[in-house]
Amino acid sequence: MDVIVVGLGAMGSATAHQLARRGVDVLGIDRHSPPHTFGSSHGETRITRRLTLEGAEYAPLAVRSHEWWRRVEAESGASVLTACGVLTLADQAADPEAFAVHERAAAAHGIDYELLDAAALRERYPQFRVADTRVGLLEPGGGFVRPEAAISAQLDLAERYGARLHRGERVLGVEASASAVTVRTDAATYTADQVVLCAGGWLAGLLGDPRLARLFGVYRQVLHWFGIGGAGQDFSPGSFPAFIWNGVGRADDYFYGFPSVDGATVKVATGQLDHRTTDPDALDRAVTAEEAAGFHRAMISGRLPGLSTRAVRSEVCMYTVTPDEAFVIDRLPGRERVLIASACSGHGFKHSAAIGEALAELVTDGATTLDLAPFALGRFNSVGRRGRSQRARSAGSRPSRSIPVRRERRKRR
Ligand SMILES: Cc1cc2nc3c(=O)[nH]c(=O)nc-3n(C[C@H](O)[C@H](O)[C@H](O)COP(=O)(O)OP(=O)(O)OC[C@H]3O[C@@H](n4cnc5c(N)ncnc54)[C@H](O)[C@@H]3O)c2cc1C
Repeated sequence: MDVIVVGLGAMGSATAHQLARRGVDVLGIDRHSPPHTFGSSHGETRITRRLTLEGAEYAPLAVRSHEWWRRVEAESGASVLTACGVLTLADQAADPEAFAVHERAAAAHGIDYELLDAAALRERYPQFRVADTRVGLLEPGGGFVRPEAAISAQLDLAERYGARLHRGERVLGVEASASAVTVRTDAATYTADQVVLCAGGWLAGLLGDPRLARLFGVYRQVLHWFGIGGAGQDFSPGSFPAFIWNGVGRADDYFYGFPSVDGATVKVATGQLDHRTTDPDALDRAVTAEEAAGFHRAMISGRLPGLSTRAVRSEVCMYTVTPDEAFVIDRLPGRERVLIASACSGHGFKHSAAIGEALAELVTDGATTLDLAPFALGRFNSVGRRGRSQRARSAGSRPSRSIPVRRERRKRR
């Protein structure tokens, strides 16, 4: 077998799909049956935008992913991307330069956006109650991705292109030699040319190296759905955008939300980096009514008056975060046949289709069209800093360390 993909969530489903459509002999293995609710990819919606505040290096990934979502939709019939617009709200008094990064990215990538002052916000989106200093940047081509639909569609396409997918099989260990990798599961042992580890929050446990494992912290996150209560409040995707409140700065007063996908509730959440765990299986998945009420008091009250004060439902999810909060997409040092893609720190879904493509290129060609150098492991001291030329080669754009695989085009089923 050419390649084993471990974990078939956001990253793994995209990688298996991209490998299979290149004719690679691929086996995908997941301990659960994706899409499922135990990892980082559930809860109906994920914000997607190409004007990424996290850094200019992410914009090409989002741009390419949007192209892939549309192609996946055309090939599968699934509804994946809803371009209802994404609105980033900022307080101009606190940060007059709030949108400078977005505007630079828009100019660099030719992405449309619109600036809205408080009066325009009130007229366009009466669902928000905003102060006079509140301003918004709307990216009309952004919106949300449906994570479960995206994963299902990519896994279906992967199988259509010939991938074998083993669900409900747990990988226990991965060993690499100079000539092959061995993947041991609770059902069998497999040998392949290369392995791609896309195990999300469980990645650290598969690395077999405490030095590396320490880089990946897992944090409990809570999603809340509040009922639509106010008369005349329209939260449908045609009238209400995906949004990030204080998306610029003000981390203590930040939340985000989505238009209603069921006509009855609106999903809102914040990013929480206060409950770190090393064992994702020990994550506290219970959410108390008081936790939801506290979220409403802190974030929703006085800002979205059309939502009920009591949460209709809440769910727990997890972020995997590195010390610098940037992604890791690289080969393991000293184990070149093992690639990892993880630590997408709360903003990875929108990039996952492109990451899958880049990983497939790395596996088959040893080089990628997208620049993955910013996501190399070598940036961490604990992994050992590498010289510039070495870093550029690491998961980057130059052909290197290519481990050829058989590239017979498979027949579509
Ligand atoms: C609450 C929340 C909100 C978010 N909001 C956004 C957003 O708005 N926009 C955005 O772009 N991103 C967002 N993200 C981030 C994004 O969802 C994640 O970056 C992405 O889903 C991570 O995908 P993954 O493939 O790494 O992990 P997962 O999807 O969790 O997949 C990992 C898979 O590996 C499998 N696995 C693990 N261990 C093993 C093993 N030993 N053997 C076999 N299989 C194994 C698991 O079963 C799982 O299916 C959010 C994340 C969370 C938690």
